[in-house]
Amino acid sequence: MRFEISKVLDAIEGRVSTDPSLARAVVDLAEVIRYQDLDGGRPASLLRLGMVIDALARELEEDSVPVYAVVHRALLSDADLTSNERMVVRRWADDGLVEVLDNPGDRALEVADLLGLPVLSRVRADGLRGRYPWLVEQPGRVVAPVPGAGGPVFLAHVGGGHTPVAGARSPAGVRLLSRQWRCPEPGCALLGGGGGGGAFADLARVGERSPAGQPPPTLRGGAPTCPRHGTRLGDAGPRPRSAVLAVRVGGVIRRRFVLTEEQPVLVGRAPDQSGAVVLGQWLNDEARRWISRSHVRFELRVGEVIVTDVSTNGSGIRPGGSMTEADRVPLSPQQSRVLAEADMVELYPGVQIGRPDELPTGASYTPTSVMAEAPTMAMRLPR
Ligand SMILES: [Zn+2]
Repeated sequence: MRFEISKVLDAIEGRVSTDPSLARAVVDLAEVIRYQDLDGGRPASLLRLGMVIDALARELEEDSVPVYAVVHRALLSDADLTSNERMVVRRWADDGLVEVLDNPGDRALEVADLLGLPVLSRVRADGLRGRYPWLVEQPGRVVAPVPGAGGPVFLAHVGGGHTPVAGARSPAGVRLLSRQWRCPEPGCALLGGGGGGGAFADLARVGERSPAGQPPPTLRGGAPTCPRHGTRLGDAGPRPRSAVLAVRVGGVIRRRFVLTEEQPVLVGRAPDQSGAVVLGQWLNDEARRWISRSHVRFELRVGEVIVTDVSTNGSGIRPGGSMTEADRVPLSPQQSRVLAEADMVELYPGVQIGRPDELPTGASYTPTSVMAEAPTMAMRLPR
């Protein structure tokens, strides 16, 4: 059972990210792990983060939705967590997957403000309405995870609205995210040169964090500051361009990935390259036979997404996302094409890649739980 729980924690690790392009909501980890009413278990449990992430995935009708977790430093030595859980959170902190702070204050709200994300929280923030007008103006920007029949559900918390809703990045967020920043503290996992990683375990091992995926600085007296170290940040030039693409299999977005000009991304059944997108887990036998290990390669060049077929069987382009067969343009092996805004690449019927906003979820949504590895008994640990 210990082994199973480790697997769940690994799966949850794939859903925590400080990458502004991938995170879909903000949580305060110290708060979430103490939602004891979600499972009636121990006073604190890291598995509750997985339950909340699952609830978010169900609401957004999308798999693999990462959350931006702000973590109080005291959590790294919280005796209510198991030693294994503490070790896992420390690893996330070292890898820059979560933001560890001595005194988080209203940082979760600041991140939500800068990135335009919803906040999953039960905490009232009445005193901060003046600073963050969207707290009341935009229903769904703050929702409370509460127990529901099939796991946590969200309740209107501030301003009404039960569904976590994203807003626009604030003007300060747009400004901060147009530059790359450098923390003077050596080895800063958030805004330093090393550490960091993407939203997924396979990407998290790439090594250096791409400057395109840097978390937003905090603003202190109007100056960009490292949220972890409280030091003023150096401006390291314009942030590199990036584009977010999504894989849709069987009508459901299974995961998003970020394309930068530094690194092309391979997508296929089981591409043998770090940072690649592996589709195998979502494919049936026929699709698995048709789709090559590496099937298509995406590159970002001067802001344009270029797709190249590197497969044996070829692909197709669906211009403007049209599902009419007559519109489908074949993409032969070794052929390249610019992927226009609403275009999709189709590797096999039902297996498409395009920009997430252009890939509506079909009627047959079947969420893949981040807790899939958790046996029921893991959720009923002895008190
Ligand atoms: Zn720092």
